[in-house]
Amino acid sequence: MTKEILKDLTILYVEDDQYIQENTVITLEMLQINVIKACNGKEGVEKFIQNDNIDLILTDINMPIMNGLDMIEQINTIRRDVPVIVTTAHQEAEFLIKAIEVGVNSYIMKPIDIYKIIDSLIKSFEPIMLKRQLLEKNKELLTINESLELKVKERTKELELLATIDSLTNVNNRRNFFTLSKEVFAFDTANKLYTVMIDIDKFKNLNDTYGHSIGDEVLKMVSKTINEATEEKDVFGRIGGEEFALVFISDTIEKAQEKVNVIRQKIEDLEYNDEPNNRIIQCTISIGIAQKNNDDLSIDTILARADEALYEAKGTGRNKVVAFRA
Ligand code: GH3
Ligand code: MG
Ligand code: MG
Ligand code: MG
Repeated sequence: MTKEILKDLTILYVEDDQYIQENTVITLEMLQINVIKACNGKEGVEKFIQNDNIDLILTDINMPIMNGLDMIEQINTIRRDVPVIVTTAHQEAEFLIKAIEVGVNSYIMKPIDIYKIIDSLIKSFEPIMLKRQLLEKNKELLTINESLELKVKERTKELELLATIDSLTNVNNRRNFFTLSKEVFAFDTANKLYTVMIDIDKFKNLNDTYGHSIGDEVLKMVSKTINEATEEKDVFGRIGGEEFALVFISDTIEKAQEKVNVIRQKIEDLEYNDEPNNRIIQCTISIGIAQKNNDDLSIDTILARADEALYEAKGTGRNKVVAFRA
């Protein structure tokens, strides 16, 4: 690393000799280092407390009021991770031992050689810089990770939706219809549950006459119309090509029959406007309905009875509602 890394560094510089301080500060500021000055240990501690952004301490040892090593000892009680460089004229063992005790990182002999200062600063600051870069990278990684997790969550939701919704008609697919209707079945203890099988009449003819893509449009319109005629708590789905099923709770069979007859009528009244060919296309549905009884252990047996009733509707003229009778 070069002296570039010293840019924007904040240093607490403690020196009682005004001449030395001024000269050193000029050099430090040339390196674009922010310098916080103090002229004795006591002032150094105060400045350290006032500034929580100090990256490094450069201090003289021998100073009035409080010397540099005592100052570091006090600063250590506030924050221990700030590197310290001492400038000293002393080489006595006593000072060196104390310097080691308080955790001085390096020292520069006076008179101060400016290249030695730069060298020491770089050596002391390098680990901090690396740690900062590491933390910064870590932050970036965390952000990337978070956004990835979010994407996965969104995609999972989309996939879950795709797994439950029929792609042509946007209503519940067969699988989800059975999942949801089983839940309704589990809640119905009063045999007020009705299952309904719905099948479009002569749909093969419609496809043959108008084409498969118009058939698709009619399927969408029929699905949408039935879906909108149901309530939030009802379960409706496309369970086969042109076959639908509906499960709902009703107080009486009459009300249940009336509800599905309204649906039948709505489909009878539907008009698909094939504008390019200037024609209106219509279709009807046949409906079988069955009520839950005490013998039903699952939704399947009730649906089977509704299917029987539907078969009867098909056999007796279509475009009608038939209730299953035992
Ligand atoms: P029925 O009144 O007896 O129900 O007569 P139907 O013609 O409706 O019954 P059938 O079971 O003989 O034919 C069903 C037709 O539904 C055949 C098939 O091509 C068509 N069909 C099934 N799924 C789709 C689809 O997704 N799109 C289109 N356009 N047609 C479909
Ligand atoms: Mg059929
Ligand atoms: Mg049909
Ligand atoms: Mg069918």
